Amino acid sequence: MTRRHPERTEQAEIVKRQLSAEDAAALAQRKPKFTEPCNGCGFCCASSVCEVGLKLHGNTQAPCQLMRWREGRFFCGAIDIADEMGVIEGFALRVKLAIGFGCDSETDEEWDVREAAKI
Ligand code: SF4
Ligand code: SF4
Repeated sequence: MTRRHPERTEQAEIVKRQLSAEDAAALAQRKPKFTEPCNGCGFCCASSVCEVGLKLHGNTQAPCQLMRWREGRFFCGAIDIADEMGVIEGFALRVKLAIGFGCDSETDEEWDVREAAKI
């Protein structure tokens, strides 16, 4: 019998269906602050599909179909594809997606705080 990790099941279910307000809130809870190290919470790609995802699967509706869950976190499946193509392709896509530069996704609350600080 296969036993599934409860969190893994929960995360996989979130990716399979359209993101509900409750899902977004659950992923946002795990998200570190903007620019802090990425923890693979998946909030970004479950909330909107990036340019790379749009080009690869053409589906504008989040969650992105290329989200992959393994080792207790989400990964970008486009990186897996690029890595299979070669080291340079994998590196180039990591740079394009700013992987390794911290969390680049903001919750509505973070956005509001940053916008207010500009005034
Ligand atoms: S970049 Fe995405 S997966 Fe990484 S911490 Fe931010 S919201 Fe989560
Ligand atoms: S292509 Fe990768 S980085 Fe872009 S939305 Fe999809 S999973 Fe996220």
